[in-house]
Parts: sequence; structure tokens; C-alpha cells
Amino acid sequence: MNLTERDQTYVAQTYKRFPVEIVSGKGSLVYDTEGKEYIDLGTGIAVNAFGVADEVWQEAVIAQISKVQHTCNLFYSEPCANLAEMLCARTGMKKVFFSNSGAEANECAIKVARKYAAEHLGTEYSTIVTLKNSFHGRTLTTLAATGQDAFHKLFQPLTPGFVHITPGDVAELEQVFAEHKVAGILIECIQGEGGVMPLDPAYAKAVEHIAHEHGALLMIDEVQTGNGRTGTLYAYMGYGLNPDVVSTAKGLAGGLPLGATLMNEKTQDVLGYGDHGSTFGGNPVSCAAALSVLGRIDDALLAEVREKSAWLFNALRAIPGITEVSGKGLMIGIHTEKPAGEVIAACRARGVLCLTAKDKVRLLPALNIPMELLEKAVSVLRDVLK
Ligand SMILES: *Cc1c(COP(=O)(O)O)cnc(C)c1O
Repeated sequence: MNLTERDQTYVAQTYKRFPVEIVSGKGSLVYDTEGKEYIDLGTGIAVNAFGVADEVWQEAVIAQISKVQHTCNLFYSEPCANLAEMLCARTGMKKVFFSNSGAEANECAIKVARKYAAEHLGTEYSTIVTLKNSFHGRTLTTLAATGQDAFHKLFQPLTPGFVHITPGDVAELEQVFAEHKVAGILIECIQGEGGVMPLDPAYAKAVEHIAHEHGALLMIDEVQTGNGRTGTLYAYMGYGLNPDVVSTAKGLAGGLPLGATLMNEKTQDVLGYGDHGSTFGGNPVSCAAALSVLGRIDDALLAEVREKSAWLFNALRAIPGITEVSGKGLMIGIHTEKPAGEVIAACRARGVLCLTAKDKVRLLPALNIPMELLEKAVSVLRDVLK
């Protein structure tokens, strides 16, 4: 059997894979089995923050993996403590819980909200409010949080206690607090899987204000938008928000699994001994990788992300066949006249890897992608959309 046949025979068929096997790469260039070169504008869904086989990242990973690869959370671990310290110093948050994925980071956020509410408002205050069209993960609880019915259909009953409201509708937001006993509200500043849809900043501020007025927590899902992706370290910073809990994952460790849930002054002591745990969470190799990644996302790099973003938005908006460009930083959604699936297949044939989000073409290039590769990729896109 060839690879495709073996995959289709033995791997649970939950993904509609592209007909490509990436076997190597360097930075924003990746190669398939035939040696064909691609400009990577997807970075494994915003995971490879500095591209493939980045040398600084590799050194950090190799140094840690040659010392000890795992100790479990019953022992102290330098990379884990150092990363938590760095995350707190960079955000002003006070404590971090480490897990392995975005869904887990959100699960932790939800547990924090439920326990905080139980202790401060009463155990009946358990409702978690999220937005329609959101995406928060694939576990049964984060699926319940996800405001898209298509994901829910055959997995009932989901974890109860979730209410989805329409982004931008302040009246509905106020209504939900009148009708439910709310523990917290969880939002993405830019809905990634929902089609790269930025939240209206005034609405985001209203969410913060109304949540806090009712003693509920503001939680921001920065799994996709975080770690420099939108041109600020976390997207909430660009929105001027003051979250009580922040979850992140994807780009955090630059290609290794790591989730983090950040808690502020108010929520830092909610979780106590035995309240939560993860065998792999805060793995020293993942944390060493994340220390290297976060250390490089400094003001200079963020300014570069914003400059490349401005160039990209302008270049894309000038292409006939593109009807709308949305997003922020290097998280970009493109509405095309041709179907997005066709566009990304044609790009792939010409050596450019893009993703889709709903009916849009989605670009999530490496934070350090060279300008000349962006220019090349845009000219391919221009040809494809002719
Ligand atoms: C990808 C994503 C998740 C889920 O992350 P996993 O690591 O796949 O569990 C959650 N929230 C958002 C906003 C995401 O983009």
C-alpha cells in the first residue's frame, strides 16, 4: 500500500487531507516527497511561528531534550517556571497553568470560571457565555463552548451550561445576563475557524464592562490569535482589554504541543491542589521551545509583523477577484470570487500553501517570513485569481 492507502486504511478518517506529504523545510519554504518547493502560508495552522527547522528553535529544543525530556508535574522544572515567569512578565497576568493543546487551555479557563463563580457568586452561577460562529476546541466541553451547530449534531448531550450569543449585539449580551446566572464569557478577538472575523472593538469593550459589572469573568481565547500572530503579543492587547483569564496554544511553542491558561490577580488562586492537572502539561521540551519563541517575539519583531501585514493587506486588496480581506497582523482571511477550495488547490499546484476558514482563503504565514516570499506568493495568488 502507498502512503495514501495506508493512511486511509489505518488512520481514523477525521481529516480531509491535502494530497501532499511535507517531508522537510527551512523557514517558510517546505518540500514534498518529490522535492517540490512550496511557500508555506499556513504554518501548520499558526503553529510553526518561525517556520520549519528554525535553527534557534532547534537549538533550544535539542539542548533541553538532551538533558531530560519529561519529569511530570510532581517535580519542579526550570523551563516550566521560567516560561510561566516570562508569560506573566509580558502580560501582567499572575499565574499560568500548562497543558498540551488549545482545547485543554480552554477547558482550564472554563474550570477557573466555574470555580471562581461558585466561590464568589454561588454555585448556581455556572453559565459560560460564548459567541456564535466561535471555535474553542473538540473536547465535549469545548465543543459545547463552540458556537457552531455543525460541530454539535451527533455528539449530544454536550456539557450543559453554555449559551451562544451574536457577536456585536450588545442588547443580546445584556439579555443573557438577565436570563442566566453567568460565570464567565469566553471570546476570540478574531474568530479564526469562523472565517477570520474580527470582533468590533467597541463590542469587545462592552463584553468586558458588562461581564465585570455582573462579577463574571472575561476570558479570551488566544489559541490562534496569540503569540505575535496579530501584531501584538496577544490580540487582547491590541483591543485594550483586561481579561481575567487568557488561553493560548498553537504558536506558543513554535511546533511542539503546549497549551497555557493565564490567570490575573483576581483568578490566580482559584485553582488549588488537586483542582486540575495534566501528565504532559508543561513538558520541559515544549516549555524550552516556548521560551525561545516568546523571547524572540519582541517589539522589533512585532513591528515587522505589522509592517508585513500592512503591505499584505494593500497588495491583496489590489487583486481583482478578491472581494474582501479581513483579519489583523499575519492572520488574514480573503474572500474570493472563485470558491476558496479551488483557489487554494490552484495555489498548491503552483507552490504556495494556503488554508481555508469557512468560505475564505486563510493565510497564517510565519512571523518571520521574508518579504520576497510574501511578494512571490501574492503574485501566484494574483495569477490564480485571474
Ligand atoms: C485551534 C483552536 C482551538 C483548539 O486548539 P487545539 O490545540 O486543536 O485543541 C481553540 N480555540 C481556537 C480559537 C483555535 O483556533
